[in-house]
Amino acid sequence: MSKTINVFFLAAEADPFIKVGGLGDVAGVLPRELRALSNDDLKLDVRLVLPYHPVVKAENLRPLEPFSIQRGDSEVQVEAFETVLDDMPVYFIGGEPIRANGSVYSLDASRDSEKYAFFSLAAMELPRYINWQPDVVHANDWHTALSIYVNLTKRWEAGAKHVAGVVSLHNLPFMGADVGGILESYGIKLAQTDLPEWARVLPLPLGLWASDAIVAVSPGYAGEVLTEEFGCGLQEFLGQRRETLSGILNGIDTVSFDPATDKAISVNYNLDTLKRRAENKELLQEKLGLARNPDIPLLAIISRMDVQKGVDLAFTALKNMKRIDFQAVILGTGDPKLEETARELQNLFPEKIKAELRFDAKLARQIYAGADMILMPSRYEPCGLAQMIAMRYGCVPVVRAVGGLKDTVKQDETGFVFEKMHHMSLVSAIKTGLKTLPDHEKWESIQRAGMATDFSWESSAREYLKLYQSLVK
Ligand code: ADP
Repeated sequence: MSKTINVFFLAAEADPFIKVGGLGDVAGVLPRELRALSNDDLKLDVRLVLPYHPVVKAENLRPLEPFSIQRGDSEVQVEAFETVLDDMPVYFIGGEPIRANGSVYSLDASRDSEKYAFFSLAAMELPRYINWQPDVVHANDWHTALSIYVNLTKRWEAGAKHVAGVVSLHNLPFMGADVGGILESYGIKLAQTDLPEWARVLPLPLGLWASDAIVAVSPGYAGEVLTEEFGCGLQEFLGQRRETLSGILNGIDTVSFDPATDKAISVNYNLDTLKRRAENKELLQEKLGLARNPDIPLLAIISRMDVQKGVDLAFTALKNMKRIDFQAVILGTGDPKLEETARELQNLFPEKIKAELRFDAKLARQIYAGADMILMPSRYEPCGLAQMIAMRYGCVPVVRAVGGLKDTVKQDETGFVFEKMHHMSLVSAIKTGLKTLPDHEKWESIQRAGMATDFSWESSAREYLKLYQSLVK
């Protein structure tokens, strides 16, 4: 008889239902990739559960029997829905704390705490109502980390089965706000933990503390979180948990992100027809209102406008490249100050720089398929998907040697890498790229090496499977 591992996978967002950032990509693909590893000997029954944000787009939702969770003397109603995505059951948890907040993430930390504490707690009740018992609960980031804490406190109940708890770390600095009072109101005790005092009431540290395994989303980041520079105050705690900490690189959706079939781009191409890519560049230049010229290097930024991403550094670098012939497109939204700087840059160099300050998945694909280089000067980068997507499309990444960027981009082989968080270091890496670009043979070899690299989810999913197997032994 085949063995089954049941995995309850929780996330704040997942493509195609709702995607705001990289987490949406990961949670949209990994659960299905894991299921696809099922074979005659082992079945992986991974099920995804998401908050029913008012902005979620989901068809054919089937309402499940509503239930409630106790809070003080009253009960909070939980609305649950089910749908199926490629044979995978997907559940949505709704209710007042989730409705109260229109977007996926808000700027109001206490509202977000209410929402995600409710989600994590309610989601952990769901298995009972659907008559399905997880072997592994897999949470992602602070939003769902409390599910792992609750998973542990449930284990303390008499006769409870051991359910393994895994937390994937996509972004350590975001730990959530104080949930001490919220947990107490739901009747959940705060444990004596070996966390630093300030962290004992925060969702992410509590989830990490209660977990059986911690997975950083790249081997590089797994090493970095143990250091003072990147550990955000948890480095010592994580150091003590070193044996349970590993790094598994995220993959990308290589079916959706495939220049050979991508419908969002004008001209499809692959390794054999790479020359055709040039047409996309010209069409992109035209669309952006830039001079249509294959010989002018076209640089790109596709990123949240956030200091984490070092976009401020990239703007300063571009500003310092006055005497260099180049074009640049900036696609992104976020911090209004950074958006303003991007706009100023466009006003300063209207012939050279275009700022497209919105979320536009189609334009992003056209940029990956047309631009020569993408700039990613991140201050920290747990994994980073944009550089992998770019490489798949033959858009050469210029990245800082940090986290997943360092793990995925090889200097002179698949891109250009710089160390120091200084705009002149970025300028110098860009210049190396610009010098290489006219050497078509060399440039193509860099593009080809990137396009040929395997960034598929399959190998990451296999590593997650190995981890699950070690936990449910
Ligand atoms: P993060 O998760 O930190 O935002 P990643 O590089 O891991 O960064 O993932 C970002 C994803 O979001 C990529 O798929 C990138 O193409 C996409 N993206 C970022 N900004 C935009 C935008 N303004 N329009 C379209 N896609 C975007």
